[in-house]
Amino acid sequence: MTTIHSLGFPRIGARRELKFALESYWKGQSSRDTLLHLGAQLRQKHWADQSGLDWVPVGDFSFYDQVLDMSFTLGNLPERVQGFQGDALDNYFRVARGRSAPAADGTPDCCGGVAAGEMTKWFDTNYHYIVPEFSAATTFTLDASRLLAQLAEAAAQGVQAKPVVLGPLTYLAIGKAKDASDKLALLERLLPVYAQLLDTLAQQGVQWVQIDEPILVTELDADWQHAFNTAYHHLKAAKVKLLVATYFGQLQDNVYLAAHLPVAGLHVDAVNDREGVLPLLNLLPTHKVLSLGVVNGRNIWKTDLTAVLDWLEPLAQRLGERLWIAPSCSLLHVPVDLDSEQQLDSEVKSWLAFALQKLDELKVLGTALRQGRSAVQDALAANQAALAARRTSVRVNNPAVQTTVARISAHLGLRESPYAQRAPKQSARLKLPPYPTTSIGSFPQTAQIRQARSDFKAGRLDPAGYRAAMRQEIARSVREQEALGLDVLVHGEAERNDMVEYFGEQLEGYAFSQFGWVQSYGSRCVKPPILFGDISRPQAMTVEWIAYAQSLTRKPMKGMLTGPVTILNWSFVRDDQPRSASCKQLALAIREEVLDLEKAGVRIIQIDEAALREGLPLRKTQWKEYLDWAVESFRITANGVRDETQIHTHMCYSEFNDIIASIADMDADVITIETSRSDMELLDAFEHFQYPNEIGPGVYDIHSPNIPTQEHIVQLMQKAAERIPAERLWVNPDCGLKTRQWSEVIPALANMVAAAKTLRACT
Ligand code: GLN
Ligand code: ZN
Repeated sequence: MTTIHSLGFPRIGARRELKFALESYWKGQSSRDTLLHLGAQLRQKHWADQSGLDWVPVGDFSFYDQVLDMSFTLGNLPERVQGFQGDALDNYFRVARGRSAPAADGTPDCCGGVAAGEMTKWFDTNYHYIVPEFSAATTFTLDASRLLAQLAEAAAQGVQAKPVVLGPLTYLAIGKAKDASDKLALLERLLPVYAQLLDTLAQQGVQWVQIDEPILVTELDADWQHAFNTAYHHLKAAKVKLLVATYFGQLQDNVYLAAHLPVAGLHVDAVNDREGVLPLLNLLPTHKVLSLGVVNGRNIWKTDLTAVLDWLEPLAQRLGERLWIAPSCSLLHVPVDLDSEQQLDSEVKSWLAFALQKLDELKVLGTALRQGRSAVQDALAANQAALAARRTSVRVNNPAVQTTVARISAHLGLRESPYAQRAPKQSARLKLPPYPTTSIGSFPQTAQIRQARSDFKAGRLDPAGYRAAMRQEIARSVREQEALGLDVLVHGEAERNDMVEYFGEQLEGYAFSQFGWVQSYGSRCVKPPILFGDISRPQAMTVEWIAYAQSLTRKPMKGMLTGPVTILNWSFVRDDQPRSASCKQLALAIREEVLDLEKAGVRIIQIDEAALREGLPLRKTQWKEYLDWAVESFRITANGVRDETQIHTHMCYSEFNDIIASIADMDADVITIETSRSDMELLDAFEHFQYPNEIGPGVYDIHSPNIPTQEHIVQLMQKAAERIPAERLWVNPDCGLKTRQWSEVIPALANMVAAAKTLRACT
């Protein structure tokens, strides 16, 4: 009999209840008890939602982040918060969010409080975890209280609990040694605490523990492979059965290691690595459970249940009791309930499955395997019908788009001339001073702007009224920039709620959910648009706003677009064609916008690729393939313009070393990047590569309300000029200013413009 189980459930709540409860608690508007109570209610509800599973995850709920939970369970608190006298939950939030110490007059002060833990992306997802901090002196002590309390709640509810913990190797691998010491050396200290934890769980009657080791789908060197064996041999004595869970990718060369760990079971991602399952099965000792993740935990499409059964049935024959099935990974990465969606196009809706629907699919598969397909005949037929409708829908298939994509040839991605020939033509046309100043695109999204947009969406403001309100904002930002003396202006992006959603809403082939929220970090959620069909652009999306902005000034106004790779990486994407194919369609659509902007007389066009790096595959061996199509897509978008038109791109992160060749290959005339926090050191990558085009290294951190001084900006730019010839440098902030206030933006940009003048005087 096949066992069905799940690896984790979204914790934020179908209506983002946890988000609102957290934010209210943080603002001091509700009590800790209220928050704790809400947490318990959510757990209770989510376990009820998962009833029908043979094993239900417990311990996957978190008030902020499951990795931070693990740090507390292991007693690995950063030194700066040890010895805190207050409540443990408050201390937990101090690590998660940082805390500024109140100044004597009560106003918050930037210094003196507690720095937040660093946050980084959880593998290749859009979820961010708090990075565990290590040093050579790190020690561990068990605090099982959270898990024990949740187990007790689950027991009271009659839940068949399978506690979930993060495994020791992944915990070490994803953390950071602050003193550059060897993290693996800590394993010896860590293992006894894990052993103690497993004993504690065994004492509670726990039978199975899910121990997540997703680093098994990444490249591991010999030391780490060896450490895996050491660790699990050490934990072998535990009186619970361990299910080592991997997900998000392929085991590849770790397959032998994974198959032979001395544990009772292994979970693998059979969506991402179906080909890997048979080779694994041939290696797997015959006493072990094999859990196959057959329902995609990362995307929102219905599973092809019949196809999965065709594949699974022979495996079920072979494995018998040893076969478990589950979603490929925790359902944390998908929205909760499709039934909440009342406004979603019904045709598109019929193709989708959110977390609850995915659990239903799992149950259908389980029943089919146990009792035969006839027991779930109707469900299978309905599933087949929905998939067939999707395959043939005219909403999905647009022959015109398919023809254009098929006709893409190398010349689409080529500029008329190389940069060296374009640059003089652009400077003759733009007549910019040395060290030209600009900003990254957005200006403060003020309360008025948000109000106007929500009035417009609710029908309280008519389209003409909304348009007038946005024009007013654009005019204001042009006025401010003229007054500041910036050289290249932006319109300010007032009309954009989000840099992807804005374009998705205007492209054919996209749908939007009302409640399709997915946790990004802490209380923050994103609602990725759903790319379901061939992409086309029925009409221009930005030209009117930009042309209006340009009409208000003689200075060059930058056209502002989001690039195809970023739109793709921040959407739920099709599973019926490769990502690269969807990306090329997006590239062609945005290319049309670029050409329309150029036709409208716009001289500079910026195409943001904020999420290009995020899309890198987990394994380095697969990077090249991704970078090739990502860069090609950008080039298709950008490079249809004349030599005189200047293309900018922007990327807001600070790691370029390993992708610098691809960045250069994009061939944007100007790239603006985040650099202020790295003291311009990140320009080393550009210097060593002899990056040939222009660069705008960010001169101040837009995340902080601090106003950068003119001297500091001059110093930073002088450091930049040691690495990049001054005639190829621009002066700009690290990123867009939408989260700042005008009262911060104006003095900061004024100092930036003054700094540029000083620099010009010195050259
Ligand atoms: N143009 C966008 C802005 O200024 C870029 C945002 C980003 O890089 N994340 O807001
Ligand atoms: Zn940015």
